[in-house]
Amino acid sequence: MRVEKILIRGPNWVGDAVLAIPAMKAVRAHFTQAEITLLVRPWVAGLFTSAPFIDKVWSESRPSSLLDWIRITREIRTRRFNLALLFPNSFESALMTFLGRVPQRVGYATDGRTWMLTNAIAPSAKARHQVHYYLDIVRTLSVKAEQPSVAIEATNEETAAARTLLASEGIPPEAPFLVVNPGAAYGSAKRWAEDRFADVADVLAREMGLQVAIVGSGAERPIAERIRKRMKSQTAILNGKTTLETLIGVLAESTLIITNDSGPMHIAAALGVPTVAVFGSTDEKVTGPYGPRTRIVKHPVECSPCLLRECPIDHRCMTRVAVEDVCRAARELLA
Ligand code: SF4
Repeated sequence: MRVEKILIRGPNWVGDAVLAIPAMKAVRAHFTQAEITLLVRPWVAGLFTSAPFIDKVWSESRPSSLLDWIRITREIRTRRFNLALLFPNSFESALMTFLGRVPQRVGYATDGRTWMLTNAIAPSAKARHQVHYYLDIVRTLSVKAEQPSVAIEATNEETAAARTLLASEGIPPEAPFLVVNPGAAYGSAKRWAEDRFADVADVLAREMGLQVAIVGSGAERPIAERIRKRMKSQTAILNGKTTLETLIGVLAESTLIITNDSGPMHIAAALGVPTVAVFGSTDEKVTGPYGPRTRIVKHPVECSPCLLRECPIDHRCMTRVAVEDVCRAARELLA
């Protein structure tokens, strides 16, 4: 069958979407003539608006009703895709493409959906980095990916919007700055202590002559306020003021990011920004940043990785990571 139109159902989380980029690039390189449409949630779509490996970005919120769900399924049918690649493991994503009459449907054999897939892949028993987990989906089509790369670039519009925002928050144009990302949407288990983020930012800002920008969601603004209160360096709080596109611009303009395991960590790594990530409850071999200039700081504890949202004990995976551990990693990375 000649493949002319491909539907990629993208991951729902920003970090996962970044880690799926090598698989998307591999599809682009293999099916050079096909039109590739990426169906994603609105909060992820901004990552791909200017991506050269995607022809069309189709953004849809989670269906709010059965009628809404039927509307999207009908549209899949109307667009007459030849091939669907399902990166989420959900039953729903398989059902949509099955009822949307896409003739070839590829994804993992999970969630009782094997009967709806034409290529059902058994998940590997071994822990695989998420980049290879997604690549294995496209490899079933004999698609090759010799040197997987998550690399993306910010657009001029993204960096210009970022500089405008930074200037309005007191960071002058051209001023070098470091980014602090102390939140983690998944839960507090992934978060390193606020006072240590503040101390690291102060030490590195003084040593390297940098200003500081704190990023995160609007809901995480109180965390940012507490960090700034403890700090002596000039610090801008951008929480809740960035779209995904502006955040990409801010990260691309930065000198360094100190971060928890989170979506912004993956974006920064993909942009090639020096990235120091504190890990504790999660497994860096599976979801570690996949860029050329990254360092992971982790203290080995017997209960890690637990993958829990909240720590049920004393959060030793994080409390045992010292300020100096993170400062050292940043110095080595920038040396
Ligand atoms: S259970 Fe262990 S790995 Fe999980 S958050 Fe607590 S200290 Fe960290």
